[in-house]
Amino acid sequence: MKDKYDAVIIGGGFFGLYIANYLSKFFIKILVCEQNDDFMQRASYSNQARVHNGYHYPRSILTALRSRLNFPRFIKEFEPSIVKDFDKIYAVPRLLSKVTASQFEIFMRRIGAPIRRAPKKYENLFNKDLVKDVFLTREYAFDANILKNIMVDKLNRSAVDKQVLTKAVNVKQYNSDKIQVTLIKDNQEIKIIAGQVFNCTYSQINYINNNSNIGLIPLKHEFTEMAVIDVPDELKKLGITLMCGPFFSTMPFPPLKLHTLSHVRYTPQFTWYDEAENYINANDMFDKISRKTRLAYMIHDAQRYLPSIGKSKYIGSIWEVKTVLPLSEVDDSRPILFRKNAGLRNFHTIMGGKIDNIYDVAYEIDLMFK
Ligand SMILES: Cc1cc2nc3c(=O)[nH]c(=O)nc-3n(C[C@H](O)[C@H](O)[C@H](O)COP(=O)(O)OP(=O)(O)OC[C@H]3O[C@@H](n4cnc5c(N)ncnc54)[C@H](O)[C@@H]3O)c2cc1C
Repeated sequence: MKDKYDAVIIGGGFFGLYIANYLSKFFIKILVCEQNDDFMQRASYSNQARVHNGYHYPRSILTALRSRLNFPRFIKEFEPSIVKDFDKIYAVPRLLSKVTASQFEIFMRRIGAPIRRAPKKYENLFNKDLVKDVFLTREYAFDANILKNIMVDKLNRSAVDKQVLTKAVNVKQYNSDKIQVTLIKDNQEIKIIAGQVFNCTYSQINYINNNSNIGLIPLKHEFTEMAVIDVPDELKKLGITLMCGPFFSTMPFPPLKLHTLSHVRYTPQFTWYDEAENYINANDMFDKISRKTRLAYMIHDAQRYLPSIGKSKYIGSIWEVKTVLPLSEVDDSRPILFRKNAGLRNFHTIMGGKIDNIYDVAYEIDLMFK
């Protein structure tokens, strides 16, 4: 590691890696540092692997439209990691949904998302007393392991310095336009100077801010469980989402060649907000909280709508801290967080609520440096 860089990226998730590579358009000496022993082991792996195409966001037209625009770009750029060999079903229940089936259909047509009534063989999978309409849509999954390899290849080609087992502890203004970053590696404290610093640590954004006496960014965290299941044959080539409210979603999870199951009521097991007076690092919380699966509740509810999911075999659970902006509580939107000069000059904080949001980030970076 050098002691001076043009740009330092803290956090080696998908966002940190992509931003490090993207910045090589503008800078020469770039460092990305990751506290774990490998890249993309946290939220960028532990998620439902959906490449969004708008369907998930009938209550936020902006998020739905951004997904529609980013979908083809993501599929093209990361083609080898994209899994397409399944049909994606969105179903709308008769009761309790926050959108009706006709609202859902009209909304999707408005944003130009492909949607049609699902064929009988799919409709028959659902309990017609509880499910109003079943739609066949187009949505894919990504394999996080392949995505990581693609990103690492890109970084090798752009000669970005990549360091794992390297934890950023704090940042401080070094002079009028440079930042000093304190890192811990091999139990040693290292101080480096950077022209630009990007905090891409997702659930741990405020860990750096808190240590650096920079105001905290309002963030909401959920300790989440996605169950990993082996679904029965009739569901193997399907992703299914029951919209929109306290419902469930099952998606192929390519790294394990199994499915994940999430349920709006049971997947978030515990929620907290970052608060200056009582700041708790999301990583400490992640390590401390006891893990007790709620699979039985998820399956119990899901099989009322989709009886065959009850035949699934439980394999295990993927646990993660999901971080969202508090404003997303209202409409379930997923805007990016992009704060330039966030507390210090040339210290920037970025968080994307979904993987394909990266292109909205790239747009902002172009505005900054082009
Ligand atoms: C349960 C769940 C389901 C989801 N489903 C989907 C989905 O289906 N589709 C979708 O598009 N999005 C989904 N998301 C959202 C998506 O996972 C995130 O938007 C995305 O992974 C964020 O990427 P990231 O790089 O910012 O975060 P991360 O991948 O978490 O990367 C942050 C990295 O920073 C490192 N780090 C933290 N602190 C430090 C430090 N001090 N020093 C050095 N390194 C540090 C961490 O170890 C980590 O590797 C889901 C998220 C969750 C939790």
